[in-house]
Amino acid sequence: MADLRFDGRVVIVTGAGAGLGRAYALVFGERGASVVVNDLGGGRHGEGKSSKAADAVVEEIRSKGGKAVANYDSVVDGDKIVQTALDTFGRIDVIVNNAGILRDKSFARISNDDWDLIQDVHLKGTFKTTQAAWPHFRKQNYGRVIVTASNSGLYGNFGQANYSAAKMGVVGLNNTIAIEGRKNNIHCNVIVPTAASRLTEDILPPDVFAQLKPELIAPVVVWLCHESCGETGSIIEAAAGWAGKCHLVRSTGSLLRARIDEIVTPEAVRDSWDKVTDMSSAVRMESIGEASGALITAIEETREKS
Ligand code: NAD
Repeated sequence: MADLRFDGRVVIVTGAGAGLGRAYALVFGERGASVVVNDLGGGRHGEGKSSKAADAVVEEIRSKGGKAVANYDSVVDGDKIVQTALDTFGRIDVIVNNAGILRDKSFARISNDDWDLIQDVHLKGTFKTTQAAWPHFRKQNYGRVIVTASNSGLYGNFGQANYSAAKMGVVGLNNTIAIEGRKNNIHCNVIVPTAASRLTEDILPPDVFAQLKPELIAPVVVWLCHESCGETGSIIEAAAGWAGKCHLVRSTGSLLRARIDEIVTPEAVRDSWDKVTDMSSAVRMESIGEASGALITAIEETREKS
């Protein structure tokens, strides 16, 4: 099979001046894409700014014969990043929403600023950048979007309530834009990376840190953004040269009343709780229609028993 190429495609990678974003931008550049290397160049808690980080990656891509331009705007002004793509390369095909910072605090100590900044960068930044590209994707009947979540969102992590909330926020955003984009060949997926970077240097044990190169995740993101990849609406975890798909499941559940004319009491809920929470035959709901359909079935079952 042919190599996966991006000739003629224009790709924005946000937060591409370091870590995972840099690794993504380099692979896109090597494979023929014109790359907008966005990075605000601030510290890991969102302080300061500098053009150095984005410039260095643009230089790296160009030195290997690739095409790249720097953009230094915050993702909160995502429309400006998309404008850079349009002004420089005349189109936009792929957006990898990757920029991120941390403001770790235990839940009780999170200030309004710690909360707002994290939601702004991760959730609003993803919204603003993707929405600015959306009309262009629709017009050309083509687009690929990656949003970046985290295991801290999927599973929770002590001291990261603000970050966990934002990271699950982008999963919800992705669920719906994948549905809205489908008819225009716009595919949207979530990447859940675990990688050695300045965000994780003091979190991961040193021997594990050494095995978690961003370069081992970049090919997964690049594949998800290729025109031949049919995946959409999915959550893909990737790390250390491994990737797997992740989704929500629901238990079979239990009826909480015997007859349609009965009320549900807290005691009936208590008495059914083992069955409500029995995950041994849990299944994935493929859509909101399927999930609601199961509720209609519950009503019908209660009627039949009445
Ligand atoms: P990193 O700090 O190495 O890189 C993030 C980059 O984003 C930095 O260069 C930073 O300057 C840039 N950035 C920050 N705020 C920005 C803004 N407002 N606008 C534009 N650029 C901005 O971190 P990383 O580990 O490579 O993280 C990349 C993404 O992956 C983040 O969204 C992070 O939350 C997520 N993530 C990382 C891990 C991991 O294990 N490293 C795990 C889960 C999720």
